[in-house]
Amino acid sequence: MSLGDLIEISRRYGSDPAYVLLGGGNTSMKADGVLYVKASGHALGQIDEHGFVRMDLARLAEIWQRRYSDDDAAREAEVLSDLMACRLAGETSRPSVEALLHALLPYRYVVHLHPALVNGITCSQRGEEATRRLFPSALWVELVKPGFILASTVRERMGSRSYQIVFLENHGIFVGSDTIEGIERTYKEVMTTIAGAVTRTPDFTELTYDEARVATITKALEQATGQKILFETNAEVRSYLADERSFASVASSFTPDHIVYAGFRPLWVERNEDVADAYRGFESEHGSAAKIICVQGLGFFSVGEKPLPLFLDTIAIAVYSESFGGPKFMTEEMIDFIRNWEVEHYRSTVSTS
Ligand SMILES: [Zn+2]
Repeated sequence: MSLGDLIEISRRYGSDPAYVLLGGGNTSMKADGVLYVKASGHALGQIDEHGFVRMDLARLAEIWQRRYSDDDAAREAEVLSDLMACRLAGETSRPSVEALLHALLPYRYVVHLHPALVNGITCSQRGEEATRRLFPSALWVELVKPGFILASTVRERMGSRSYQIVFLENHGIFVGSDTIEGIERTYKEVMTTIAGAVTRTPDFTELTYDEARVATITKALEQATGQKILFETNAEVRSYLADERSFASVASSFTPDHIVYAGFRPLWVERNEDVADAYRGFESEHGSAAKIICVQGLGFFSVGEKPLPLFLDTIAIAVYSESFGGPKFMTEEMIDFIRNWEVEHYRSTVSTS
């Protein structure tokens, strides 16, 4: 079985930042009873045939007959072990946690992504209503725990209908089609429709800043974190960091990816506050260190390279969401679930998913 088309489309979306950040998202193909789904730890942009795991679709379907523990951690561990057992002989990589969703959509190709434009709707106050209006034939699924609960919720909502487009609140979109052209056409349509509905786009115009001050803060944070520190600012960043009120629109996590790569919330530092002190205060208060440090009126600092694009994504989503009633973050309960989730922990330690 040739994966050529699947690899090509995965790389294409994977190298376009309008669709994919840090290799996030995943793709699959079904042929002759086998699901070829992206393995954890592979970035879409550079994927090749080794980046896909072969799984038995009939065995995957049997998962729906099982009963799993009510305890979150126990359940996800049980499901993961069943997922591993659905792999064809000889497979060693770990399937994406979203493999169950790929198996559920009855199309040859499935491409799951988290584009900022799409999340401008899925992470907004009126996301459900806007989705129903703009995409009447799509399925909307409210925020539920990722992994098994999400897959079983999608399965329940689908019933006997097959949907080519599934919007997941605070997460992203699944698109299915029997042809590559169908996937491309649908994504284009989705992106064009949302772009036509937004009233404002992010203004990432570069701005000058106090370089001496940024250098001082960078040094202090390098000492406090022991890691490389990057600084970023632009017109949109500056306007969200004007005061605590404007900061509220970007002050939490929109999707699981934001939590995994940029931390569960950015640290807010007031204009005259000591940044390193604030950094240490955050860690002792929350039990985990900040990955994004926002300094009032200046810009934000990223601990390492990965959080930076994700926080810019947060900002883009916040801007797009204005057109759909304003931003809507994940609930605290869901944020805690992700923070404790072993699978996500695995993912953040094997680079990208
Ligand atoms: Zn996803």
